[in-house]
Amino acid sequence: MGEFQEQLQLAFDTEKGQVIRDCMPDGDAEAVLVAVAKASKRLNSTMIAVLNHADAKLDCRNGCDYCCSFKVEVGAEEVFAIKHFVDSTFTPSQKDATLERARANSKLVSTLSQSKRILTNIPCAFLLDRSCSVYSVRPAMCRKLHSTDVKACKQSFDNPADATVSNAEHAVVSAISMTAIAAVREGIKESGFDSTIYDLIDVVVDAFENPKCESRWGQGKKAFPGSG
Ligand code: SF4
Repeated sequence: MGEFQEQLQLAFDTEKGQVIRDCMPDGDAEAVLVAVAKASKRLNSTMIAVLNHADAKLDCRNGCDYCCSFKVEVGAEEVFAIKHFVDSTFTPSQKDATLERARANSKLVSTLSQSKRILTNIPCAFLLDRSCSVYSVRPAMCRKLHSTDVKACKQSFDNPADATVSNAEHAVVSAISMTAIAAVREGIKESGFDSTIYDLIDVVVDAFENPKCESRWGQGKKAFPGSG
């Protein structure tokens, strides 16, 4: 194993251990939400530190939303964190409009094959006026997205079927952030909670409209049995 791989393994073990410790005090759903919120802050700090260290220049700007039409992989706890945020901060009309977009996305996805779904740009239901309406609780896979070249993002957005378009993420930041995300999933699993990776569009409507999903999750069961 190379030195960088060894460092990634150490970072994985450290992050997983921290998530397990943070989930432990009560071992309940609330503790998991707090643990994941802390992990998100660590991910933010790590990404900023590595980008600064590498003196990498990002091309991400307010109002640039190419990456908000791609498939978002999430954990159940991330979906429920978004739900709590929406329930406590959105007006009824904002929530209705968001859920209407979510239902439309879910209906569209249900008509697509897996391969077609990957190749279809679908603006996220939480994207509002070209920015994320749940930014502080956005999933880790959104949090880790960054670009050193907006031209590549546009090219990928305009040609979703073209696998030759290069990824414009900073390679080291990408590797470190994916390691941290995998470690969080493993920490959640070892803490006895659902660690399934879901497609946000598949599960978000159920999270809001079917309270059994969250209660199943709180009992350590699979939150969305028909998905993931
Ligand atoms: S949750 Fe926010 S950041 Fe993630 S895809 Fe949706 S709008 Fe974009």
